[in-house]
Amino acid sequence: MKAVEILKTYFGYDSFRDGQEEIIQSILSGEDALAIMPTGAGKSVCYQVPALLLPGITLVVSPLISLMQDQVKSLNEAGIHAAFINSSLTETQITKAMRFAMEGRYKIIYVAPERLESAVFAQFARTGRISMVTVDEAHCISQWGQDFRPSYLKIVDFIDRLPDRPVVSAFTATATREVRTDIECILKLRHPQVVVTGFDRENLYYSVEHIAGKRKDDFVVDYIGKHADESGIVYCATRKNVDNLYGRLAQRGLSVTRYHAGIDNETRKKNQDDFIYDRAQIVIATNAFGMGIDKSNVRYVIHYNMPQSMENYYQEAGRAGRDGESAQCILLFSAQDVMINRFLLGKKEFEGMSADDVDLVRQRDYHRLQVMEGYCRTTACLRNYILEYFGERAVTPCDNCGNCHREYDEQDMTADAKWVVNCIAEMRGRYGLNIVVGTLMGASRARLREIGADAYRSYGALASRSEADIRLLVDQMLSEGYIVQTGGEYSVLQMGDIHGLKDENTHVIVRRAQEREEAANRKAKRTDSLTSAGYGLFDRLRQLRTVIAKEEALPPYIIFSDKTLIDMCARVPGNRAEMLMVSGVGENKYNKYGERFLAEIAAYAARNPGAVFSEQIIEEESAVPVVRKGRKEAFYLNREDTDRFPYAEYCYISEIKDRLNQITSAPNVKKVTIGVIWEYLVSAGLTIEQEGQDGYTKVQTEQGMQLGIRTIDKVSQGGHAYQLLVYPEAVQRMVVEHFVGSGDGNL
Ligand code: ADP
Ligand code: ZN
Repeated sequence: MKAVEILKTYFGYDSFRDGQEEIIQSILSGEDALAIMPTGAGKSVCYQVPALLLPGITLVVSPLISLMQDQVKSLNEAGIHAAFINSSLTETQITKAMRFAMEGRYKIIYVAPERLESAVFAQFARTGRISMVTVDEAHCISQWGQDFRPSYLKIVDFIDRLPDRPVVSAFTATATREVRTDIECILKLRHPQVVVTGFDRENLYYSVEHIAGKRKDDFVVDYIGKHADESGIVYCATRKNVDNLYGRLAQRGLSVTRYHAGIDNETRKKNQDDFIYDRAQIVIATNAFGMGIDKSNVRYVIHYNMPQSMENYYQEAGRAGRDGESAQCILLFSAQDVMINRFLLGKKEFEGMSADDVDLVRQRDYHRLQVMEGYCRTTACLRNYILEYFGERAVTPCDNCGNCHREYDEQDMTADAKWVVNCIAEMRGRYGLNIVVGTLMGASRARLREIGADAYRSYGALASRSEADIRLLVDQMLSEGYIVQTGGEYSVLQMGDIHGLKDENTHVIVRRAQEREEAANRKAKRTDSLTSAGYGLFDRLRQLRTVIAKEEALPPYIIFSDKTLIDMCARVPGNRAEMLMVSGVGENKYNKYGERFLAEIAAYAARNPGAVFSEQIIEEESAVPVVRKGRKEAFYLNREDTDRFPYAEYCYISEIKDRLNQITSAPNVKKVTIGVIWEYLVSAGLTIEQEGQDGYTKVQTEQGMQLGIRTIDKVSQGGHAYQLLVYPEAVQRMVVEHFVGSGDGNL
């Protein structure tokens, strides 16, 4: 069988994704391989497919028990013989697994790195035929990575002792150069084929909300309320935060569970399973949660606190939308988070490292924290900030993140800043943020009277400002160093370096975000393309999946992903051949579950005679040939769709794109992208890409100007000015008109 046939037969997918084929081909030709791909890109397939084509066994070294279990479950479901050997098994189970392994019953075996050192295992490895050693989460080998595991250093000794050197393949989502070099050198990869796929996760929408204290709770409650039928993760920095938030949400009867290292093993395992098996919609957790969680239908990841590094953030946030459907990554930021993280870093212990190394690692840690803080404070494109950090060049703002969708007001608050300084001076640096803000506002609080704050000159000095503005001002002054916030449990505000403030040319500028409708920000979900009857079917299939998952004691997404169910609703398969065309339905899964899903679909169709639940049916009636195996054609609209376009006075190109994707009734078309719309605008002579000092910028032409295309000026945190175009209704109509008709002609 060829690689692509394996992909179809066992995994149910029609074609490889970016980078997968290259990796697989180099492995099959006996070359080592190193793949750096972001979470969700599909690394597993890259070693699982060749594992089935190689003559011997593939050993997969993986650091996480839960990950191994999950992978093995999925493989067995797909009809591939696989096992794991780690400390979660009893001695008897291990002996049995080893015996089966010797007998060659498994094609793929997952092992923890420690296991490689065991005598019994080494014995097996010398006699069994090992074709490939795959190192998953390969960054664990690097001391400079976040998750250094000393046992990873032993992998190469193990490989060296094998009678025949197998192919070695390594996989990671960490892209920094140091880590990559470490992997290549320490694992002694031989002229590896290195494949790095883009780090951008287009389906993720990033945003940062500046809110502090209790208001974070309100935000989370409100958000969850608005996303009631979606699965999500809320990360908190501390166990205490987890418990508090969990309490508040549980009290409201929301479907939540929690996870942190302070919960006993058994309960923790149960809570994790509740989330994975969709028995709880939401998990509130510390960063202890999520390694090795492959749940594909997580629709949002909220960070209640700022994490310690972009690496951490990108990994945790990346657990959203692994199925490729749109998902949101929201970070709730307050200046307090920086203090907490400094404090936690200060407490971090380093075992088995020389003092010099510890110093170096500490410096890196603090640097990472600064970069993370920069992400929270930037007013420029968040996606580009991430991509640039991971070494990808990004020029134009993505137009699909919170900052790109936000407008900023600037206010000169220099005079107010002096009052903040006065207030802190009057308090002699003894009180925290809330008291300072309360005093400046002139709030009538018992606590303020108690400490005599109501007698200060600064009491009520900023009464004309809103509390939010005063907090933003304090944040700004902290970041500029005029004032400082102490660490520790009771953090207080103290005087920083106020020299600059005495210079009359110095201005303290505070940027305030203007909110826009969240709804406009959301990309269309694929379920949106289902008709209501189609959604009814989707719901039925979801229920059937839950029933089967219970019977099989497997997480629902391992049976079929949401994406697969949606595809069933769009195609409404009536027989085996049609079912096998659904993305994610392979032979083995068809044999196990295919009939039941077909029966459910047929029954639903019988109960809803005449209901149109897929656009496919419309198309067949209109006798347009539908021969496509998952290959989608270019985006287009049907004439009747055009009335549904919500025209606005002005909108961004991303909004035009989202709206087009929402309204189309065309079956099985690719989503229209910003790029395609942009090309049309250029070809229509309305816009143009212009080369300037810092690369290309997008501007309107003379003609575009006459039609009313405007530019909006934006300024990034670093003072870098950039512009975004907005399009008037007339242009929106032109775009809509352009896409009416068949799929060709719009590329
Ligand atoms: P990673 O390990 O890189 O984070 P996974 O291996 O878990 O990602 O893959 C993410 C999702 O993408 C899984 O649901 C997987 O089945 C799916 N996937 C992988 N390869 C393909 C493909 N070629 N076509 C469609 N889906 C794929
Ligand atoms: Zn952006």
